[in-house]
Amino acid sequence: MKKLKQVANSTDFICFLGTGGARIVVAKQLRATGGIWFSLDHTNFIVDPGPGSLVRMTSSKHGLDPTKLDAILLSHKHLDHSGDINIMIEAITTGGTIHRGALFCPQDALVGDERVILPYLKNYIQEITVLTEGGKYKINNVVFSTPIQQHHPGQVYGFIFNAGKLKISYVVDTKYFPELERIYKADIMIFSVIRLLHSDLEHLSLEDVKTIILKAKPKTAILTHFGMTMLKARPWQLAQELTNATGIKVIAAQDGMKYNISEHA
Ligand SMILES: [Zn+2]
Ligand SMILES: [Zn+2]
Repeated sequence: MKKLKQVANSTDFICFLGTGGARIVVAKQLRATGGIWFSLDHTNFIVDPGPGSLVRMTSSKHGLDPTKLDAILLSHKHLDHSGDINIMIEAITTGGTIHRGALFCPQDALVGDERVILPYLKNYIQEITVLTEGGKYKINNVVFSTPIQQHHPGQVYGFIFNAGKLKISYVVDTKYFPELERIYKADIMIFSVIRLLHSDLEHLSLEDVKTIILKAKPKTAILTHFGMTMLKARPWQLAQELTNATGIKVIAAQDGMKYNISEHA
């Protein structure tokens, strides 16, 4: 595989506005839940603006300005992912005064009794696209896809982003299934890893992530969206142990962490 240095734009980065997931961590804000800001090929977008996302963004030392966002992406409507979706629509459109931006979300987040996106805000955004299994989309020069419905309640989609020759995948909330390693194989793989040990719950565990990265062999794996069992076991130590065991660089994301893609190649 080519060095990422040769394929990534020097200004490309990923900023983790929050690294918490699951009920207790979210409710107590043991880790923040602001989602992930991507800057790829001069295009900015936020994925899963959970509770506190706007505050984390505007107070970030990395100068993240919501009015500079080109798009908002929502993987699914659970509150730890969607808590700030409505205020984020207001923020990127400056309170609805500037008709701009794109929103990508599953249908059940947008329509029906249990929708999470307020109907009046739909007119604020320039373009709304409903995500579907196997869908392909574009934000400026960034192409992305939602290859498969995750094994998780509701309509839930992970993402694969292509910016130039660089491929980044985000494996969001799901129960483990064997196609994951083939479908989400990428240079950089980001995982929602709620649990330490494998279970029948509809979430990935650290053991599942180990299985996936041994087969997919990414250049870098980044762990985020931690539940209590992961936090208690110290994610940074677990990441080091996983690096030692697999020979693949594994990083445990921290709140506010900016990952410069070219520097870390
Ligand atoms: Zn979640
Ligand atoms: Zn979820």
